Amino acid sequence: MTVRIDVFTIFPDMVEQFSAQSLLGRARRAGLLEVRVHDLREHTTDAHRTVDDAPFGGGAGMVLRPEPIFASVEAADPPRPLLLLGPGGRRFDQPRARELAASDGFSLLCGRYEGVDDRVRTALCDDELSIGDYVLGGGEVAAMVVLEAVGRLVPGVMGNDASAGDESFADGLLEYPQWTRPAEFRSMSVPEVLRSGDHERVARWRRARALRRTAADRPDLLEARGGLTDAERDLLAEFDGSDD
Ligand code: SAH
Repeated sequence: MTVRIDVFTIFPDMVEQFSAQSLLGRARRAGLLEVRVHDLREHTTDAHRTVDDAPFGGGAGMVLRPEPIFASVEAADPPRPLLLLGPGGRRFDQPRARELAASDGFSLLCGRYEGVDDRVRTALCDDELSIGDYVLGGGEVAAMVVLEAVGRLVPGVMGNDASAGDESFADGLLEYPQWTRPAEFRSMSVPEVLRSGDHERVARWRRARALRRTAADRPDLLEARGGLTDAERDLLAEFDGSDD
């Protein structure tokens, strides 16, 4: 199955180049992911290819005009939902990434300047998506964030599909810490348990470390999943940090 993602932007090269490389590039070449980038300027009708205009009511900055955006989307007939990227949207997170990766496709519309004519939001797009509570100069970086977070979850894209199972947010927890060789680096050594070869103990230790790290750095995540179970409390007590 191929997941198709269409992106509408006035900076198509940014998105095209980004998604031609690394994990996304490989996924596209393998036919697992199809990314179609549409240049909103192709649907302008004036000699200067104008995509923006001053806001009604006055004020600073420019607003993307509705005509080229409607024309571009109608010509492409992209997969729905069409998601407008904007700071006022629903927050993009790992569950949403998983949901989108399991779909047949969806589309992203990048705003610029002060944003887009509101008729684009109300009459053309299906939903609005934000990547966080800050204001970017345009939706392109946000689109790249969504492309990468979703693209790696598309079945078959990650070399080892199992690795998505225990990474951060998979179970409402942050991931356990990881180490590689050398076992001893500048007097810092890798926890003994990881070198023990006892897979069952390693799994329990990792679970305890994921819980401990989440409790320390993101207590909100633990709260959202209803706190710790009794078994998890026992696990934390068993690995109290003395064997790190
Ligand atoms: N004037 C608007 C911000 C416009 S920023 C406001 O105050 O709400 C220009 C464009 O960047 C937006 O149209 C949107 O497409 C993109 N953008 C900015 N911040 C974003 C965010 N946090 N998430 C997703 N897209 C964002």
